[in-house]
Amino acid sequence: MRQNLSKLQQRIESLAIKNSTKPKLLAVSKKQSIEAVRVIYDAGIRVFAESFVQEAIDKIPVLPKDITWHYIGRLQSNKLKKIAQYFDWLHTLSSIEHAQKLQRHCVELDKAMQVLIQINVDLEPQKSGIMLNDSDAIEYLVDYIVKYCPNLKLQGFMCMLEDTGEYDKELASFHRLAQCKDKINQKFKLNLQELSMGMSGDMPAAIAAGSTMLRIGSTIFGAR
Ligand SMILES: *Cc1c(COP(=O)(O)O)cnc(C)c1O
Repeated sequence: MRQNLSKLQQRIESLAIKNSTKPKLLAVSKKQSIEAVRVIYDAGIRVFAESFVQEAIDKIPVLPKDITWHYIGRLQSNKLKKIAQYFDWLHTLSSIEHAQKLQRHCVELDKAMQVLIQINVDLEPQKSGIMLNDSDAIEYLVDYIVKYCPNLKLQGFMCMLEDTGEYDKELASFHRLAQCKDKINQKFKLNLQELSMGMSGDMPAAIAAGSTMLRIGSTIFGAR
């Protein structure tokens, strides 16, 4: 795993050579043991991402406190409180209702959370996220978070692609997310910076399109 990690870090370095900022690496530790997380932690990684709330709750308290935890799984209303309690970042916000509830939990916990809005850039009905062509819904949620959710710090957008293995398609999809961010920044006079895009299978295209956060699991830990 240590070797996988250092190879991956070199690969990111060389792929991002022309980028203005190097993307951050998030180690996706879902379905990995506490021991495996520790190995990667000892290799210097301090940012991890999880997709399942109960699994994360079992791991987070027994791992070092200086880890930043990102939640990248599906959202369910009844899990929002735990997510607010255990995580620093949330990548999959896509409804006003969830934003409102999360805001309330953050007030109760007296904490702030960094959030990203998930966008369905390929308009896939079975996937979560706001449809990219529903600009009203995207703008309404951005506006709502900025105006009414002071504890939610909107940082940017996230997407997850269908696994086609076609670089040009992936690149086009990631570019759509980047354009969405630029449009929102312009319209709302914001300066959102983050683009959470790129997994093990589509990392090169994501970096080429300006990813700021790579969510990488199997390249580091091996197949799940
Ligand atoms: C599992 C997962 C990843 C990591 O996938 P790999 O192919 O293992 O790199 C990234 N993002 C999300 C949302 C995931 O659920």
